[in-house]
Amino acid sequence: MKLRTLEDLGDVSGRRIFVRADFNVPLDDRGVADDMRIRATVPTIRELLDGGANLVLASHMGRPHGEVREELRLAPVGARLAELLDRPVLALASTVPETLPEDPLIMLENLRFDPGEEANDPLFAGGLAELSDAYVDDAFGAAHRAHASVSALPELMLATGRPAVAGRLLQREVEVLGRLLHDPARPYVAILGGAKVSDKLATIMALVERVDALLIGGAMAFTLIAARGGAIGDSLVEPDRFDEVSAAIERAAERGIAIVLPRDVVAAQERSAEVPVRTVAADDIPAGWKGLDIGPDTVAAFADVIASAATVLWNGPMGVFELEPFAAGTLGVAEAVAASDAFTVVGGGDSLLAVRQAGLDVAFDHLSTGGGASLEFLEGRALPGITILEDDL
Ligand code: ADP
Ligand code: MG
Repeated sequence: MKLRTLEDLGDVSGRRIFVRADFNVPLDDRGVADDMRIRATVPTIRELLDGGANLVLASHMGRPHGEVREELRLAPVGARLAELLDRPVLALASTVPETLPEDPLIMLENLRFDPGEEANDPLFAGGLAELSDAYVDDAFGAAHRAHASVSALPELMLATGRPAVAGRLLQREVEVLGRLLHDPARPYVAILGGAKVSDKLATIMALVERVDALLIGGAMAFTLIAARGGAIGDSLVEPDRFDEVSAAIERAAERGIAIVLPRDVVAAQERSAEVPVRTVAADDIPAGWKGLDIGPDTVAAFADVIASAATVLWNGPMGVFELEPFAAGTLGVAEAVAASDAFTVVGGGDSLLAVRQAGLDVAFDHLSTGGGASLEFLEGRALPGITILEDDL
């Protein structure tokens, strides 16, 4: 699989280029609260501007469901981007403008203000296609959705003889995650956590076929522990998934790989920073108590496996890291991954936040900007936003 990239655009000087970015960032009353995703696309934007191109930038933000929502306008993103680039960004108030101003750097309004975006509507895509003579996709976080700006639009561009290529961010994501998918240095260790096992069951099933060890923490571990008959007290659990997680455990045994589950957990009677906590055996949690973090023995066991890895993939926090009494497990795993000599990749909004809050992001080889997209990619699934950019040579 080979992506078309900026090289395939040839000389961009004086051309109007549509850049689909992922500016789906958190906002607060002062503007952009976290600009990591904006920064991640700056290299692509800079390279095109340096080449003399005029750009139309576009992104979705939040879930406005086809309606204009004042609090989801992209103007604050435009302001932040202008600071990062040190040049003006003209943020339009309309998603599909009838005519484009002459400005070299224009940003369209939130794509999802138009119902055509999520519906992958060819008419909506047609309106966007009128705005440029080449298409660049740098929105890895949106690559798993067949939405108009990443699917119907590049299709239309290609069908009308105009190039559709990947930007630098998307190119790097596919390079790095492609290596994990097709040719990981072994041992390949994956660490999964987070709230719901049902969100990540497909990932578990796919990784069981590919990795050499799978470490599972977070709330999702309790569904596996309970499926094997452990007492999990009042921890989060999804009993309707027992059959599927049991199948994963069986498949791991057949392949001779380890699924490592928590031994001990930090438990409390409420999900609160103000209540007493106890460290208890993960399969012997008293009634009325819930496991809210992995315990110190588990951190040590996970760290041992991580230390022997050549490739580490991490997605999902080990506990309720947002609350200080339940943050140690996630931090301990972050430190173990940061300290390893392996090629290390972290993805997922919350895991990434935890790693960055600990100041450990610099120690990872790759911070994936795609949560759902990176997992689907690593499952080996075809992502609509990526297949359309592949060279079919
Ligand atoms: P990511 O965004 O990294 O993919 P998820 O969104 O799947 O991660 O899960 C993150 C959430 O999981 C966090 O809000 C965290 O509080 C929650 N979580 C982790 N462990 C537990 C637990 N044991 N009990 C309840 N919630 C948990
Ligand atoms: Mg999340």
